[in-house]
Amino acid sequence: MAAADRLEHLRDARGMGCTRCPLHQNRNHLVFGTGDPEAAIVVVGEGPGDLENRSGEPFVGPAGGLLDGMFRRVNLARGDVYICNMVKCRPPGNRNPEPEEVAACAPFLHLQLAIVQPRVIVAAGGVAGRYLAGESSDSSVGYLRNHDWMYRHDVTGLEVPLVVTYHPSYVLRNRHNPETAKRAARAIRDDLRKAVRIASGD
Ligand code: SF4
Repeated sequence: MAAADRLEHLRDARGMGCTRCPLHQNRNHLVFGTGDPEAAIVVVGEGPGDLENRSGEPFVGPAGGLLDGMFRRVNLARGDVYICNMVKCRPPGNRNPEPEEVAACAPFLHLQLAIVQPRVIVAAGGVAGRYLAGESSDSSVGYLRNHDWMYRHDVTGLEVPLVVTYHPSYVLRNRHNPETAKRAARAIRDDLRKAVRIASGD
């Protein structure tokens, strides 16, 4: 079965009616993932926000627009990558997903990654970065992005480099602090460039 069909089957057969964690109670749409099902780069965010919950698409709205701009800066288009989140249903009030919710949803993510078989994973934000790097809950994004990580999964056997970067919403949250916002935007762009280099085998 082609990767696109396997992803669709995973979403429809196991994701759509999922009640593995309390986040299903707020779900308008399951936000499973989108993009190239055989992408060399997978971007993993934290969880859907309000617009994503309403549309069923990850990274729409201002944070998604910012991410698209970053992609353009490194000669990528959204359709070149596969984008998904740690949790597929919206945490209420756009809070971070709780560790139990991340753990409940993680099997979907591991299977998505195993199907897409990327050459590199980009974790956007601390929730995805810490989980995928296997780091403790107090590791900052600044610390994570300055170290080399590998994503390894015992069951699926996938083992690929992991690049941790800031979530685009961090840039937006700091728009009243232009220096911080600019530094974070530059960091995301540099980290995407690094992912492109790894994906192309340089
Ligand atoms: Fe299921 Fe994941 Fe939604 Fe929780 S967040 S209900 S585990 S699909």
